[in-house]
Amino acid sequence: MLQGARHAHINALNSAANELEMEIKVFELRKDTDLLESDPHVIILPGGESTTMRLIGNGTNSQLLPELFKWMRNNPNNPVMGTCAGAILLSDPQDGGGKIVDVQVNRNGYGGQSESFQSIVNSDLIDGEFLGVFIRAPRFSSIGPKSIPVVSHDGEIVGVRTNNRIALTFHPELSNDNSFHKWLLSKALGVSS
Ligand code: GLN
Repeated sequence: MLQGARHAHINALNSAANELEMEIKVFELRKDTDLLESDPHVIILPGGESTTMRLIGNGTNSQLLPELFKWMRNNPNNPVMGTCAGAILLSDPQDGGGKIVDVQVNRNGYGGQSESFQSIVNSDLIDGEFLGVFIRAPRFSSIGPKSIPVVSHDGEIVGVRTNNRIALTFHPELSNDNSFHKWLLSKALGVSS
C-alpha cells in the first residue's frame, strides 16, 4: 500500500476469490511490522512509481521494502506478483540481495505517458488472451536463466516467471478481468507460510 494502483488489486483479488469460492483475507502492508504481523500466503506489488515506492518503503517510517524482500527469500514457495513498477522492484530489489524475479528491466521502455497503450497479450498461465494495460511501462531487456516467459505481446515478452513469482510489465488489475489474480490465488493453495 505504499503507492500506486493498489485498491484495484484488492478488488480484483476479492472477485477472483469469489469466483474460486475461496475465502481470503487481504492485509494492507505499509510498514515492516504489518508484514511481520500478518505473515501472508501471497504478495502483490502494484504498479505506480518505483522511485516513490523505494523512497517511502526504505524510509525509517516504513522499512517495508527490505522486510518484504527478506520475507520473499525466506519463503521461496509463496506466490508473488509484481505489476509494472512492482515488476521493476522484483527485478532489482536494491537491498544487497539477489533478484526476486530473474529478469533485467528497462524503466519507461516504451517512452513517456504519451506512449501508454492497451493491447491484447497472450499467456498460457490464464489459458489465452487478456487486455494488457501498459502505463509508462517497463520493458524486459534480458531474461535470466531462472526465468521463463509467461506473457507475450506482439512477439515481445511482457511477463516472466521465476518459480511462483511473476513480473508483468502491464497492469492486470485495470482490465476488468481477474484471470491473473485467479492464477495467483490458485498457486497459494497448499502453501503455508
Ligand atoms: N514508469 C514507472 C516506474 O518506473 C512504472 C509505471 C507503472 O507502474 N505504471 O516505476
